[in-house]
Amino acid sequence: MGYVFNRKWLDPCESLISILWKFERANALPGHIVARLMGPDVHPYEGIVPELGAVNLERLRENLPVPVRMLRVALLQPSQRRRYSNVFRHCRHCVAHGYHSVLHQLESISACPAHHRALETACRRCGYEAPYRVSVRLLEAPYRCASCRASYGGQGWTPNTPLMKAEYRKAFTRRYFERYLG
Ligand SMILES: [Zn+2]
Ligand SMILES: [Zn+2]
Repeated sequence: MGYVFNRKWLDPCESLISILWKFERANALPGHIVARLMGPDVHPYEGIVPELGAVNLERLRENLPVPVRMLRVALLQPSQRRRYSNVFRHCRHCVAHGYHSVLHQLESISACPAHHRALETACRRCGYEAPYRVSVRLLEAPYRCASCRASYGGQGWTPNTPLMKAEYRKAFTRRYFERYLG
């Protein structure tokens, strides 16, 4: 469809929201257009929980040139052992560089695997907790509070943002394998 996206922009275990925010920034697209990538049966304002089985990966791949393998990792995979927060949960250091991980949503993880800082859900200015759904509301507010628009800690991602440090990438990968395969 003529959209640009480079898979090299992605870091390990990046969440679907994080991927879509980068896609939006790279193509200067408004959130309501990106929300439609989720398929005609998903209401763009109501949105959808980015969960394996709920998201139509075939449909998403038509516009988003990201390997299916990476999209599967980007989705929540709930099980008996794995529970996820239903509100957007983030590390301020990571969001400042435009990164959010599926691991940040895991209830059993309370600090960022890379920065060891407590994960936050509430906006520091207004206290709003954003529902963790791919919806117009969240897509229209990349790296900031969807209610008052205060930044979550920095400017977020641009195509010039450098990749995450190797040690941080390793920290996410290691934790992913512990939590998902251990
Ligand atoms: Zn972090
Ligand atoms: Zn706020």
